[in-house]
Amino acid sequence: MIILKDSEENIKKAAEVIKKGGLVAFPTETVYGLGADATNPEAVAKIFEAKERPYFDPLIVHIANKADILKVAQSPDRRTEFLIERFWPGPLTVILKKRENIPDIVTSGLETVAVRMPSHETALSLIRESSTVVAAPSANKFSSLSPTTARHVFEQLGNAVDFILDGGQCLVGIESTIVKIEEDSIKLLRPGGIPKEAIEDCLSLEVVEMQQHLKVEAPGQLDYHYSPQKPVVLVDKIPVDDNNAGFLFFTKPSFNIPLDRSFILSADGDLREAAANLFLALHFLDSLDIKRIYAQRLPEKGLGLAIMDRLKKASMKFKNFS
Ligand code: AMP
Ligand code: MG
Repeated sequence: MIILKDSEENIKKAAEVIKKGGLVAFPTETVYGLGADATNPEAVAKIFEAKERPYFDPLIVHIANKADILKVAQSPDRRTEFLIERFWPGPLTVILKKRENIPDIVTSGLETVAVRMPSHETALSLIRESSTVVAAPSANKFSSLSPTTARHVFEQLGNAVDFILDGGQCLVGIESTIVKIEEDSIKLLRPGGIPKEAIEDCLSLEVVEMQQHLKVEAPGQLDYHYSPQKPVVLVDKIPVDDNNAGFLFFTKPSFNIPLDRSFILSADGDLREAAANLFLALHFLDSLDIKRIYAQRLPEKGLGLAIMDRLKKASMKFKNFS
C-alpha cells in the first residue's frame, strides 16, 4: 500500500484505481473514507472484506454535485431538498428511495440508500475524476476507532487498500449526521457533524432521535462501535490518581494532571474543536501503556450529542463483553 499526498496528479491516479474496481482511502471533512465504485458490486465487496464489516451494515454513497443525487436515488421530497440546499456540501447524509443501478450490496438489500456530498476538495475531485459515485464507509476495521489522519488508516488497514490519499487531519473529525425524512417525522438515525438543532432550525420541525436498538432502518448499528482496544469509562469527574489510566478531558482542568497520559479536547470547551480532536485523542490514549481510559462527559447539546454518542458506544464494548 502507498500513502501519497493528495496532489492533483495523485488524485487522478487514485481515480484510475476506483475506475478499475480497486479501493482508495481518501480524506473527507468528517473522517477518512474507504472508497470504491458504488455501481460495481465486486468493488464494493472489497470494502466489506477489508473492513471485516458485516454485510448487513449498509454504506453511504458519496456524490460530487448536488444534481448527481439522481444518479443514486429517486427525486428527494421538498424537506430533504431544503436540507440539501442548506447543508451540502457537508457532513449530512440523507436517506432516500434508491435507484436500480445501486447494487443491493451497497444498501444491504434495503429499498433506500444513504447519500452525501462531502465538502472536502480532495474527496470531491476524486469522485469527479472517477466519473462515478463512490461508496465509502470510514477507512478502519469494523467497530474500531475511526481514522482522522492517513496514518490512522495505514495502521488499521495494512495492505488491504490500494492507495491512501493523505490530506492531513480531518477538520470536522466525526462522522456525518444521518437523517431520514418521513411523511410525519424527521428521524435522526445518527448524530454527527451537523447538530440536530441546526436541522430543526432549518425545517422548523422537531427531529426525533432514534434509539439505536429500535433503529430497524439502520440494521448495521451495534451498541458498541468506535472502540479503542482499551476499556473506556465515562465519568463526570476524572480520577487523576489512577496511575494505570489515561485521561480524556473535555476542557482544561483547574488541577494538575499527568500530561503524558492526558488529552484535552478543547482548552476552553469549544465543541467544534473537541469533535475535530476526538478520534485523534482516542487513538493517542489507546497507544499508551495503560489499562483503561477515563473520558469526561460533556453536554449533549449541538455537536456534544455526536461526541457523547461516540464515547458511549466506545464505552459499551467492554460492558457487553465483560
Ligand atoms: P458509515 O459506517 O459511516 O459509512 O455509515 C453507514 C451507516 O449509515 C450505517 O451503519 C447505517 O446506520 C446508515 N445507513 C446506510 N444506509 C442506510 C439506509 N438505507 N437506511 C438507513 N440507514 C442507513
Ligand atoms: Mg464507520
